[in-house]
Amino acid sequence: MTKEATLLPDTGEPGFGIYLHWPFCAAKCPYCDFNSHVRHVAIDQEAYVAAFLREITTMRTLSGARTVTSIFIGGGTPSLMKPETVDAILNGVARHWHVPDGIEITLEANPSSVEAERFRGYRSAGVNRVSMGVQALNDRDLKFLGRLHDVADAMKAIRLARDIFPRMSFDLIYARPGQTQDEWARELRQAIDLAVDHLSLYQLTIEEGTPFFGLHRNGKINLPDADTAAELYELTQDVTEAAGMPAYEVSNHAVPGAESRHNLTYWRYGDYAGIGPGAHGRLTSAGRKLATATERNPEAWLAMVSEQGHGMVEQDLLEREEQADEMLLMGLRLREGLDLARWRALSGRDLDPDREQFLLDQGFIERLGNSRLRCTQSGMLILDAVVADLAA
Ligand code: SF4
Repeated sequence: MTKEATLLPDTGEPGFGIYLHWPFCAAKCPYCDFNSHVRHVAIDQEAYVAAFLREITTMRTLSGARTVTSIFIGGGTPSLMKPETVDAILNGVARHWHVPDGIEITLEANPSSVEAERFRGYRSAGVNRVSMGVQALNDRDLKFLGRLHDVADAMKAIRLARDIFPRMSFDLIYARPGQTQDEWARELRQAIDLAVDHLSLYQLTIEEGTPFFGLHRNGKINLPDADTAAELYELTQDVTEAAGMPAYEVSNHAVPGAESRHNLTYWRYGDYAGIGPGAHGRLTSAGRKLATATERNPEAWLAMVSEQGHGMVEQDLLEREEQADEMLLMGLRLREGLDLARWRALSGRDLDPDREQFLLDQGFIERLGNSRLRCTQSGMLILDAVVADLAA
């Protein structure tokens, strides 16, 4: 795989991404509803490599020949993969699609010391960007979030990643119980000092089926109310903007030019192949757009791939109207906004002028010339309602 230190610039096109899902974690965080599993036996990584390679072959048949614009290894905790595992899977991708030198290849990592030791191996395998789940910069909140690392581990991993990878990002979760604006502003400024050119900043949400859901229902976790959460969101926008890392999407902030190419593919409604347990994809095949999803349970996925060459449990044909709704939902998350010509071509219609005017008058959306529509900062706070109104 490519070892180029210079990443190709974004062309503004939707692109074609490859998403690879590694479904295992060392422990389950109490707020997490991702497809992540804890196993108390060693994972047979060679067996998973063989299964990934087989499913890659199936996805290549579905997608046809394409040029890849980004690869993202997400999870779970991909930094539990051996570098040889990453190398073998990335080589499998490059054997099936055209992978130009210098495309963005991201691996999600947790900042424990053991995982950081593998960073050089990942770089040798072709990974040129890591995205680290730091989540908080104080030990009390890391403990509350059930994380296995402490702030000292995170600092070491961030420094190491900065030395090894051309690009690096890390995540923080805010709007934690009791978090004040002053505390968050201090932590955010510290994060900006540590960051290179990209940060993902998410509000803590309570997802059904997680341990936090039960604790929240029983009043044992008190999240900030809606007004406080909105103030924290606005503070986040102001502090990152002033530091030259504005939001380019609801929760993602970057120095202009350092946006995650892979995530832009999702939000610009490009195609992506989703490979591995519980991975979702959007593939245009023979002029039709398919929504794919694979079996979530890792062992069941492994058995399915060995029997039939893939673990897909969904291959749904998306009607044009469904595609247009998805494009609207994704495009309005972006600061660059929705490409109206692409949306019109897909939906075969214009936005309802009365609904659009109402949202413009309320200050929730704005036009960027004739070609793009985007949410304002206040529109972002009620994004779901804006999308529902425009899509209706
Ligand atoms: S490390 Fe990430 S994927 Fe794994 S349980 Fe925690 S939040 Fe979920």
